[in-house]
Amino acid sequence: MKSSCSRLVWAILLGSSPILLAADQCPDIDPPNLPAIKATLKEYYHTGPYDAAVNEVVDRGIDYLRSRGKAKKGDAVVFDLDETLLSNEKYIDGVLLAGLKTFALPETSLRPWQLKAEDPSLPTKRLYDAAASLGYTIFLITGRPEIPQYRQATERNLSKVGCDGYERLIMKPADYKQPSVIPFKSGARRQIEEKGHTIVLNIGDQESDLKGGYAERTFKLPNPFYFVP
Ligand SMILES: [Mg+2]
Repeated sequence: MKSSCSRLVWAILLGSSPILLAADQCPDIDPPNLPAIKATLKEYYHTGPYDAAVNEVVDRGIDYLRSRGKAKKGDAVVFDLDETLLSNEKYIDGVLLAGLKTFALPETSLRPWQLKAEDPSLPTKRLYDAAASLGYTIFLITGRPEIPQYRQATERNLSKVGCDGYERLIMKPADYKQPSVIPFKSGARRQIEEKGHTIVLNIGDQESDLKGGYAERTFKLPNPFYFVP
C-alpha cells in the first residue's frame, strides 16, 4: 500500500509520463534517478504536453482580456521574459536536460545564452499581440540584469520575435542582492501602478513572477526545468 501511494506521488511530481518503478523497488528510499527524471522531462518538453499547457494558459489569458474588452485609460499587462515570452530551449535542452551530473545550475549559467539574442518566442506572443490590439499598455519585467550588453541583447531578441511597441522593459538592478526576485518584481509593478496604470494581467513561468500583488489576475505558465526564488 505504501509503495503504490509513493508511486502515485512520483507520478504526480513527474506529470503525465510517470517513471515506472520495478515491482520490488521502494521509492521511499530509492526514488527515480536523475537520468530517468531528465528523460521524462525531455519527453514532456518535446512531445506535446508542454506546448499544450502553455497554449492552454495563453488561451485563458486571451479569453480574460477579450472578456474585459478594449483597454481603459491606464490599463496595462505585464509579461515576464524567460520561459514566458522567450524560450531558452537551447539552454534547457543543451544544459539542464543534458548530461548526468547536473540537475539545475545557478541562474547565472543562463546568461551567456541570453546574450546570443536568439531565443524564439513562446505561444505567449499570441497574448502579447492580443493585448496590443486591445490597446493595453505592455510592460516587460525580467530578472535579467540591468547591464548595457544584456539590455541590448534582450531588446534585439524581442525585436527579432516581433515583440515591439511595449512601454518599458524593466530589468533587475545589477547590484540586486536579495535572495528572491519577488521584492524586485512586485516593487516594479507597484511603481507602474503608482504612475497611474492598472495592471489587469500579469503572466510568468515562476511563482516569483506573480507573488506580491499589484495585478488583478495572474497567469502561471509551466516550467519544470528550473526554479527562480
Ligand atoms: Mg521566466
